[in-house]
Amino acid sequence: MPIAVPTHLTSNDSSDAISNRTSSLNQSVESSVDVADEMAVRSFCMGLLPLKARLEPWMVRAVQSESLHEWVEQNGSPLNLLNVDPMRRNVGELQRAASDAEVDLRVFFARKANKCLSFVDLANEKGWGVDTASENELKQCLQRGVAPANLICTAAVKSETLIRLCLNEEVCIAVDNHDELNRIADVAMKCACRSTVAIRLGGFEHKEKKLPTRFGFDVDRDRNLPFELGSLPVDVEGVHFHLDGYDADQRVSALATAMDWIERLQDAGHEPTFIDMGGGVPMRYLDEESQWLEFWQQHRAAMLGKSEPLTYRGHGLGTMVVDGRLVGTPKVYPFYQSLIRGPWLSKILNARLGDDSVAERLKSLSLQLRCEPGRSVLDGCGMTVARVEYRKQNADGDWLVGVSMNRTQCRTSSEDFLVDPLVVPSSKDASRIADETDCTIEGYLVGAYCTESELLCLRKLRFPGGIRVGDLVVFPNTAGYMMHFLESRSHQFPLAKNLVLSGEIAAAELDLIDQKPD
Ligand SMILES: *Cc1c(COP(=O)(O)O)cnc(C)c1O
Repeated sequence: MPIAVPTHLTSNDSSDAISNRTSSLNQSVESSVDVADEMAVRSFCMGLLPLKARLEPWMVRAVQSESLHEWVEQNGSPLNLLNVDPMRRNVGELQRAASDAEVDLRVFFARKANKCLSFVDLANEKGWGVDTASENELKQCLQRGVAPANLICTAAVKSETLIRLCLNEEVCIAVDNHDELNRIADVAMKCACRSTVAIRLGGFEHKEKKLPTRFGFDVDRDRNLPFELGSLPVDVEGVHFHLDGYDADQRVSALATAMDWIERLQDAGHEPTFIDMGGGVPMRYLDEESQWLEFWQQHRAAMLGKSEPLTYRGHGLGTMVVDGRLVGTPKVYPFYQSLIRGPWLSKILNARLGDDSVAERLKSLSLQLRCEPGRSVLDGCGMTVARVEYRKQNADGDWLVGVSMNRTQCRTSSEDFLVDPLVVPSSKDASRIADETDCTIEGYLVGAYCTESELLCLRKLRFPGGIRVGDLVVFPNTAGYMMHFLESRSHQFPLAKNLVLSGEIAAAELDLIDQKPD
C-alpha cells in the first residue's frame, strides 16, 4: 500500500495563508486542531466501533462556541454550517500537483455537490470554473457574475430552454448523445449562431473490459463522430468524461483514449483545446485507516452471527448473508482512502503511456487538462447540526434518540454516513438535574420521517454520560453531497438553512441560496 501523505495537514498556497491570518476562524485552516479540544468535542458520542471524523479546527471552534445553540434556535433544526476556506486549500492541492507535472490544469467546481452560492462566489473570486448540472445551477452562476468561459453545462438531461440559455450566453455544453447534438445544432441554426461543445465520451476500455456507463458517446461504436460533426454549427472545444468511482488507473485508461480522440478530432479539422476528466477525486473522512478496516472486519463477523450487530437490526450496508455466506459489496463511500486529491492526481499525471507520461502527452498535444471535483474540494467545508427532541428505549433495551431532522438532510445515494457524530450538551453547568440517562447509554439516532427505516445513522452509537433533550447532534464534514443532494420536503418540513461562517464567528450569515424562491 502506498504511503499516504496526510494532505490535509499540508498548508495552503501562500497568498491565502497570509490573508487568512487576519481572522480567527479562517486561521483555523492553517493551524492544527488542539488535541485536548478535539478530545473534548468527541467525548459525548462515538460509534460502538468508533469511526473518528476528520475535523477542521473551525469545526472544533464552532462546536465549542457559545453561539451554536443560538444559531439553531434562530434558524431551526437542522442547520447547515459552512466555511468556504478549506476549499482554497483543497483546490490548491490539485493545482500544485498539476504544476509539479507542468500540466495546465483548470478546476471546475461541480456545483451539484452543494447548492450554497458562497462556493460559487469563491470560485469566481479565485478564477476557478464551475460545472453546472441544471438550468437553475447555471442561471444562478451567471447571476453571480461567473464568466461564461468559466462555466460548463454537464446536465444529464438538457431541455431546449437550457440549450438555448447555453447558446445565448456562450456556455460550453458537454454533449452526451446524438439526439442532444442534433437538438443543439437545431437551436444554433434557428438563432444563426454556433455552439461550443465538449464531446462526452464513455465506454472506455480498462484492463481489457469496457467500463459500463449510461453517459456519453461510446468510444468504439461512435468512433466516426469526429468526421460527422463537420457539417454542424458546433465548435468542438474539447473532450469530456466523468467516471464512476475513484480509481486512478481507470482515469489513466480514459485519458489515453481521450487523447486519441483529440488527435482524430484534429484530423477531422477541429481545434480542441482541452480534456475534461470530470470528478471523482477521492477524499478522506476518517483520520485512521485502522478504524475503517476494523469496522468492516467486525461488521462482517457480526453479519455472520459471530458477534453482536454494529448496525440497526443487523443492516448489511450493502452486504447480506445467503446460505451462511456473506455476499454483496459495501454500498457506502470509501470513507478512508489513502491516495487523495494532490497525490492521487500526481499518480495519474505521472503514469506511463508507452514512452511518455500522461503529463508529457498532454503537453505534446498542447492540451489543457480540466477536472470537475465536487465532494473532494468541499472536504472540511461544512457540518450539519440538529437538536435532540426525545430519548426512549425500544423493546430490546436500545435507546432511540429522536432528532429534529430527516435522513435526506445528511445522506447521499449510498447506505450510510459512516462517520461518528458529535454531541454538544445543552448546558454544561452543574445545575443540570441528573436523570437515569446520565450514565453511558447505547442506541441509535432516529429522524422525523414516519417510516421504520428512518435512521439518521445505521450504526449503533455510544453516549458516555448520556444524551439529553435539547442537546445538539453534529454531523461533521457534510458539505459534499450530504446536505443537499437528496434533501426533500416530504411531510412539508422546511429545508434546512445554510449559515456561512466567515472570519469571526459573529460574522455568521445565511447563504444567498436561502433567499431564493424554490
Ligand atoms: C457528479 C459529477 C461531478 C462531481 O463528482 P465528484 O465525485 O463530486 O467529484 C463532476 N462531473 C460530472 C459530469 C458529474 O456528474
